[in-house]
Amino acid sequence: MTARILLVDDSEGGRRVLEAKLTSEYYQVATAANGPEALALAATNHPDIILLDVVMPGMDGLDVCRALKADPELRHIPVVLITAHDSQDLRIAGLEAGADEFLSKPIDDVMLFARLRSLTRLKVMVDELQEREETGRRMGMAPMPANRLGAGGGRVLVADGDPAVAAALAEDLASEHRPVVETDPEQALISARGPIDLAVINVSSGAFDGLRLVAGLRAGAHSRQVPILAVADFEDRPRLLKALDLGVNDLISWPVDPLELRVRARTLIRRKRYADHLRDTVAQSMELAVTDQLTGLNNRRYMMGQLDLLLERSAAGGPPTSVVMLDIDHFKRVNDTLGHSQGDEVLREVAVRLASSVRAVDLPCRYGGEEFAVVMPATRLSDAVRIAERIRRAMAGEAFFVGDREMPVTVSLGVSASEGTEDRPESLLRRADEALYEAKAAGRNQVVVRTPRA
Ligand code: GH3
Ligand code: MG
Ligand code: MG
Repeated sequence: MTARILLVDDSEGGRRVLEAKLTSEYYQVATAANGPEALALAATNHPDIILLDVVMPGMDGLDVCRALKADPELRHIPVVLITAHDSQDLRIAGLEAGADEFLSKPIDDVMLFARLRSLTRLKVMVDELQEREETGRRMGMAPMPANRLGAGGGRVLVADGDPAVAAALAEDLASEHRPVVETDPEQALISARGPIDLAVINVSSGAFDGLRLVAGLRAGAHSRQVPILAVADFEDRPRLLKALDLGVNDLISWPVDPLELRVRARTLIRRKRYADHLRDTVAQSMELAVTDQLTGLNNRRYMMGQLDLLLERSAAGGPPTSVVMLDIDHFKRVNDTLGHSQGDEVLREVAVRLASSVRAVDLPCRYGGEEFAVVMPATRLSDAVRIAERIRRAMAGEAFFVGDREMPVTVSLGVSASEGTEDRPESLLRRADEALYEAKAAGRNQVVVRTPRA
């Protein structure tokens, strides 16, 4: 998986060395020699990842990072700070400035590419979700309020084979989060089925196979999305790389600095909540995209998609698909006498009666205006007619109450069923529509059938 990287370093030599390494791994690299140039390039190029030198004259790396994270358009681009010497204070300052990762010079190639891979995966997922959310917005769907995007008060699974170490880690987190301590990997997997915002797992513990737990979490349907912060002995390279390979999101070195642990936990939880939020928004806009807002029935777009699928199955030798189209009789009069909003009330009541007259497998939809349709999978014409008649009676049989007025409402219905292999949604609906207009012409409040031959 390749990515576009913006490399920011004031030293020309530093830029050249790193650019060569990245290019040889097929990353696309743009370079900037100072902070303002970096911000300008980030705004025009929208790179996937920014590698940022900390020590630069004028605007330093921390300033650049803060400016990026303050810009709503650029905030989601992962930033990796590159430090000359690995000082704890600098790490904390970088994390506070919003950096996602650190690398210290001289840069270790294996660590560099492992981190880039994990950040690229994250970026691809967030981009995709953002794009879908944007599509939803363009279709007129209001985004959900972003009210859960803080990082406070997360439920954190702390797993370590040594009860004393686990308790110490939990204590470091307890000022901000709700830690759940597990010393047994099996039990930890069970805990992770509940709502977990973060898992902190010791992968270098002698008493406990942390790597197996990481693999178990990544394999579980409920725990796949949980961010994992691995506690590791950084001297133990094979284990470190294995942890990254298995998909841990972040690493912290043993012995753990409590402040760094808290800041990393905060970053990971904030990121997870952002991804959750996007996922919810996308799910919500997909729901909206297939639902009619007035009645809550499925809309025409959804119906057409389903009908297409069902007809393919019917044509391939499956059972026939039927449709019923219905239109409210003299609905204009309802609007004219009671007003448009009372008219809407009638539409809602028609939808309720329609939905409760059909079978569970049927798909009642609002086709548009005061027209409705029911798609009936695996249904012969004679059965569709029986259900259409039941719908007719559900409307005409009992007067509607609109406000405090009682008023009769009737519908006319047209029915068709697929035949042979030729029927497409358009032909099936055309026959039902022709039948419906015949019902209107014949005096309304009745069911008419149209077959391909008549
Ligand atoms: P017919 O028996 O021939 O179907 O007569 P009709 O009056 O029902 O048919 P017509 O097509 O002339 O009028 C349909 C009316 O439905 C006109 C339109 O204003 C109204 N209508 C369409 N959509 C809505 C809606 O969402 N809300 C309300 N209140 N009225 C709607
Ligand atoms: Mg009508
Ligand atoms: Mg009409």
